Amino acid sequence: MATATAKPTKVLELQNMIGGEFVNPSGGEMEDVLNPANGKLIARAPLSGKEDVNRAVEAARKAFETWGNTTPAERAGMLLKLADAFEDRAEELSDLEAMDAGKPRGTMQDEINASVDQLRFFAGAGRCMEGKATGEYLEGYTSMIRREPVGVVAQITPWNYPMMMAVWKLGPALATGCTLVLKPAETTPVTTLKVLAEMCAEIYPPGVVNFIGGHGQPAGSALVTHPDIDMVSLTGSPETGKWIAKAASDSLKRVHLELGGKAPAVIFDDADMEKAMETIAGTGYFNAGQDCTAATRVLASKGAYDDVVAGLAEQAKDYKTGDTFDPDTVLGPLNSERQRDRVEGFLEGKTKGAEIVTGGTRPDLPGYFLEATVVSGPGQQDEMIQQEIFGPVITVQPFEDEAKAIEWANGTKYGLAASVWTRDVGRALRVSKALRFGCVWINDHIPIVAEMPHGGYKQSGYGKDLSMYALEDYTNVKHVMASLD
Ligand code: NAD
Repeated sequence: MATATAKPTKVLELQNMIGGEFVNPSGGEMEDVLNPANGKLIARAPLSGKEDVNRAVEAARKAFETWGNTTPAERAGMLLKLADAFEDRAEELSDLEAMDAGKPRGTMQDEINASVDQLRFFAGAGRCMEGKATGEYLEGYTSMIRREPVGVVAQITPWNYPMMMAVWKLGPALATGCTLVLKPAETTPVTTLKVLAEMCAEIYPPGVVNFIGGHGQPAGSALVTHPDIDMVSLTGSPETGKWIAKAASDSLKRVHLELGGKAPAVIFDDADMEKAMETIAGTGYFNAGQDCTAATRVLASKGAYDDVVAGLAEQAKDYKTGDTFDPDTVLGPLNSERQRDRVEGFLEGKTKGAEIVTGGTRPDLPGYFLEATVVSGPGQQDEMIQQEIFGPVITVQPFEDEAKAIEWANGTKYGLAASVWTRDVGRALRVSKALRFGCVWINDHIPIVAEMPHGGYKQSGYGKDLSMYALEDYTNVKHVMASLD
């Protein structure tokens, strides 16, 4: 049996970071964190409870009294320092994130570069908030618009991009003057509780940023239901999102939800097939398909269908699994045994018309790996089409015409991202308008830029990450109206 030999390191003893101090959880409970590429112990993480949540929220509330009154320039200066710290500790961040989330180490520099750029974007963007012009909209009165930080924010991050999702949440909160308590996912707490926590403890006044480890229950739920939390931001599953939205309704907290997707890639006969195949495989198998925008649901016009199935199967063969620290490895493991079981469950439950063209089996490796997989011919109502698989599985369905392509593309509960592949400009614009998704790419799939919003339609959630729209989500609009008498 081949062995995955991720870079050895000592087992890290992680702590919560509350009010600028590194502290053990009040109940003293810790949990093992494993490298999903080989099952080896890499860290022990705190399991927080209600008392830890209360302390963290109290620290954040106290810090908000002064942090909420800092200038955009002061906040930008600190975000720029955070971006510099990311660059200084890029190697360590990359090693730890690769071990914690099972990512191929060779892909990590892209995530570091994106994170640094996003932090720098938010540093500048926080100084450029705009609103309606101050003026006399009613005779005898001057009206002006203020943008004020929402307050204390609870932030819950997922396990697919633990480091980058923390950046997407820290950036707009800190740029607008909010304080926060962030809980990473229980299987991937390492970069957040170790590196980000150390950086933030050094750069920010105590209490502005607080990190706590733990599961959805009890730590996450205690955090999002805490009466002194003004807003909850989650990236995670629709089930958790719905639970949070209901729980938040008790006190009408603002809720910001990114709940995954089921991204269709709609390919017409006239598409650049070579680019389409390479891009769809590249983005469908990136991060082992554990990406809410992954191009994992291909809809191909009947004329192109056979070529698309064959083309993707050919691409899948290049997705080499193995030691995630081997530079040739491009396909890492699933994040946990539970997640691999879940993905395999979709393959086992496939209906009669569906065929596994390639992949679908576990390679002879110790971690939670699954081969790059292509499934042809599933029906529109099949579970593997309707649910987010979140694994290295690309499905292909043939469609008759443009209307059917749009109907099927829109025919799931999700609405995060989609792509349309055609050289016909009119059709590209028509279809991109008809697709009910927060982002539609034309002749590409997945490029993300800090200036543009990321967020869903339908059950992919509401609220935007990245861009000026994220800053709007983390601020309140206040109208101040002065009588001129
Ligand atoms: P999850 O929603 O349970 O976990 C995401 C985060 O929410 C974790 O930090 C978790 O601890 C926290 N959480 C869970 N319950 C909570 C609660 N009641 N209150 C507060 N926080 C809570 O997701 P999962 O079960 O780990 O994954 C299941 C599926 O969700 C995946 O297979 C995938 O389809 C989807 N998913 C999507 C994304 C995304 O990027 N949108 C990320 C992770 C998972």
